[in-house]
Amino acid sequence: MKRNNEWKDVKHMLPNGFKMIEEEYLEDYEVMGYHFEHVKSGAKFVYIKNDDVESYCAITFKTLPKNNKGLTHILEHCVLGGSKKYPEKNVVNELKKSSLYTCLRASTYLDKTKYSFSSMNKKDFHNILDVYMDALLNPNIYINENIFKQEGWRYDLDNDGKIFYNGIVYNEVKDIAINPPDLMGQKIREICLCDTNYKYSLGGKLENMVKSTNEDMLKIHKDYYHPSNMYIFLSGKEDILGELDFIDEQYLKYYTKKTINNGKILQGDININGIQEFYYPTNDDIKNKNYYSLSYMIKESTCRTNHDLNLLNAFLYNYGGSPILEALRKKDLFYNSRIDTKSYNQFINTFMLNNIDEERGESFFDLIQNTLIDTSKNGIAKKMTDVFLARVEFNRKNNKNSIMGSHYYDEIIHNWLYGKSPFESIKLEENIHNDIKNELDNGFIENGINKYFLNNENNVKIIYKPKKTEINKLFQIKTRFSCERVEEIKKDIIKHKCYQQEIRKTSDMSIPSVTISDVDLQPENFELKEDEYKGVKLLFHPDKTGEIVYYNLNFDIMNLDLDKLMAVNVFKEIFNQMGTLNYSQKELDNVISIKSGNSRRYIKIFNMYGKCDDAKYKFVLQSSGLEYNLDDMLSIFMEIIKNIKLDDKELIKQIVNTMCVNTYRGMNKNSASIAENRLMECFTDMYRYWDKLAGIDFYNEIFKLNNNFNDMYDKLIENIRDMITTVFNREKLIIGITCQENVYIRVKTCMEKFIDELPSREYTKVNYNLDMTGGNEAIMLMSNNIAVVKGCNYMQLGYEYNIKMDVLKDIINREFLWKEVRENNGAYRVEMKLTVNGSMTFLAGSGINLMETLKVFDRIPDFLKNIALTDNEIERYIIRQFKDKRNTPYGRGEKAIDRYMSNLKFEVLQKEAEEIVNVTIEDLRNFADMIEDVLKNSKICVAGSEEIITKNKDLFDNIIKI
Ligand SMILES: [Zn+2]
Repeated sequence: MKRNNEWKDVKHMLPNGFKMIEEEYLEDYEVMGYHFEHVKSGAKFVYIKNDDVESYCAITFKTLPKNNKGLTHILEHCVLGGSKKYPEKNVVNELKKSSLYTCLRASTYLDKTKYSFSSMNKKDFHNILDVYMDALLNPNIYINENIFKQEGWRYDLDNDGKIFYNGIVYNEVKDIAINPPDLMGQKIREICLCDTNYKYSLGGKLENMVKSTNEDMLKIHKDYYHPSNMYIFLSGKEDILGELDFIDEQYLKYYTKKTINNGKILQGDININGIQEFYYPTNDDIKNKNYYSLSYMIKESTCRTNHDLNLLNAFLYNYGGSPILEALRKKDLFYNSRIDTKSYNQFINTFMLNNIDEERGESFFDLIQNTLIDTSKNGIAKKMTDVFLARVEFNRKNNKNSIMGSHYYDEIIHNWLYGKSPFESIKLEENIHNDIKNELDNGFIENGINKYFLNNENNVKIIYKPKKTEINKLFQIKTRFSCERVEEIKKDIIKHKCYQQEIRKTSDMSIPSVTISDVDLQPENFELKEDEYKGVKLLFHPDKTGEIVYYNLNFDIMNLDLDKLMAVNVFKEIFNQMGTLNYSQKELDNVISIKSGNSRRYIKIFNMYGKCDDAKYKFVLQSSGLEYNLDDMLSIFMEIIKNIKLDDKELIKQIVNTMCVNTYRGMNKNSASIAENRLMECFTDMYRYWDKLAGIDFYNEIFKLNNNFNDMYDKLIENIRDMITTVFNREKLIIGITCQENVYIRVKTCMEKFIDELPSREYTKVNYNLDMTGGNEAIMLMSNNIAVVKGCNYMQLGYEYNIKMDVLKDIINREFLWKEVRENNGAYRVEMKLTVNGSMTFLAGSGINLMETLKVFDRIPDFLKNIALTDNEIERYIIRQFKDKRNTPYGRGEKAIDRYMSNLKFEVLQKEAEEIVNVTIEDLRNFADMIEDVLKNSKICVAGSEEIITKNKDLFDNIIKI
């Protein structure tokens, strides 16, 4: 798009009540940006006019917390609980039934609350805008205090008649309250921004949350959710004038501008000396898990500061040769480290080291400070400048391939929220990038290090150490109630339960929806050309990617013995951490940083479409880069595959240790998916295999390896060598390529050269005889919450996948489970899931009553037998199936290749689209017997709190303690 004339007179075209504040042509993105204000109410708008097929909107309020009660977070949930125009129901749940949204999200940040959505259908987009505006400005929270109880916190009675804390936000925050990195982040703010409102907790501290009231929350709504504090961002090809007119007419004209008090935002010097020590609660026995942080509070608050810090951090840490990365690597500490900048009114830049023993952790602070001193004194090596410039150039080009509305939003919101021009950041970034070489020559790095770090006295060192604690006790009610108070509380609980019964009966849906005639019923087709060289398949997806080539090398691992799976896992972690025969680690890192774009290694399972247990397992080396660097990139990968050095025992030991700790933390964080995968192992090989790769079996193995590293090291190295020869050869290799049509021939030549160098080897698929785990299982984790999953494989019961089941699933989720488990029970998460490969599961977590939830699952067939939905209501669920996802060129290529790998034909999708529009109420009722059959043959798996599992131990055939 050129700087356009069509909008030349936009100032005069603006609807009544709006004024233009500024307009700017954003050269890097070739788009126009407009900044308006609604004069009477003070609401602000930014519109980015572009050709994107997806319309994006984000409505933001500046909402600094005023205490630790978590009110801005509770309010974020509550405003969506029904509004003046759209009463009675949770508007998000209603939108999920019928809208074609591609994203629908509400999030609370420390200084803002954001409601964002996008859609590729204009009518749908307009509907959501209306629903959100009404929800935010006219929510039902003023007339219905049950919303606060349901979403925030309330007293509830457990099966033994004991009072406990319940509520969706309360349960959501429980897991955060014991997570060391979250605690660290909170502590850093409490110290570095102690005189401002940023010191308060973002999600709420539980002990304060249970003192909050509905009135507290209403006050926050009155103070903050006013158009004068509203930042509305729109991007796409919109009828913007029409939308502005609509918002004015329906909402804004009823408000008069007011001053918003956001509390204190300016921090002075902090005067802290020495190391601050704190403790985090844990019930696990693994010692030596300390967390270290060194934070600098930067008092400047300009847009330039923000860019400087981002560039400095990238230079110090992100690339081969980066000084801090190198220093940490020498001590084998890199793997556990992190740097980040948090932008508030001012900035906090933090260097962090996680999960480390005291002895090694002690040296961290000096190590960082000495490295900063050296770098500022000695200046930067020419080689490092080259790396830096190459990365800036690549990122700039790559960014253009992944721009969506949300990308512009992220670029502008910070400045906008703090009263600066929303476009300043984008313009400044352009300038810095254009001038970056010059800046580097003139001491940009050295001066930056001095200014922001070394000469900055506002720094703080924090250590978090583990402290053995009974996690369950942390969340128990500590107050002693009088008998009268207990009676009162019980009455309240009954009243709330009655309310929930009532609301369940109301069925009118008032939310506007598109009709089937507004919807494009044709599934998206992604072009894919098949090519071949020496038996290797080349799959080419042509797309507009500029100079960038995206590719995936998919190496088969089904010829690998099971006991070598650990070797694959370790190899993908050490891949670019070790040197090779011809390159030192540092040189290797340097070349990769200059020549390659972003690259990743992972194991991927491709399931055959509609088949129960037919999967392909691949080691994927995914990368991207500029076309003219491809040859060099591939030869570096070849060098690693052929000549990787495996002699740095200390480093490998450290990596294994971190893998072990991260897996442990990951399991505690994702208890629902751990339970889900473990459950499905009762049914198919694929999940049993997955368990060995990433599940509990894997954890047991890596735990063993970590604890007996010295004894097992030689065998590990032997296995890695063996694995490399088995996996990295031509047999069954499939290469996916996404790039411009005109460079494909050159890309292919590079790939051919790579293939020529790969050995060819006899391929023998290993037959896995995987043990079946049996029965109902429980997995004890470090959590006060539990997740439960019930389910089985429906194909093994003789049923086939049918697209109508997707409508069925949505209806069960929205009409039944959401109300019964989330709204009534207080669970943060509940969901029926279904795959085209036969797995059907019912899952709930974070704050459930186990026995009640299982009973709810068993009532699904009855719900279906008696289901009464009008044709119109069913049509909404059908429409929902046609939501498209907006894709980047890389995303389209990925989808094309996925369809190929899982043997999903476009014709099948077309046929499914025709079938799905004909779903009837009878179809839904007919599924009742099948669901009954599934539930009868299901197993359950529970993961989480030891206490709850022990209480219900009779349910399980097997209990595992992690
Ligand atoms: Zn939340």
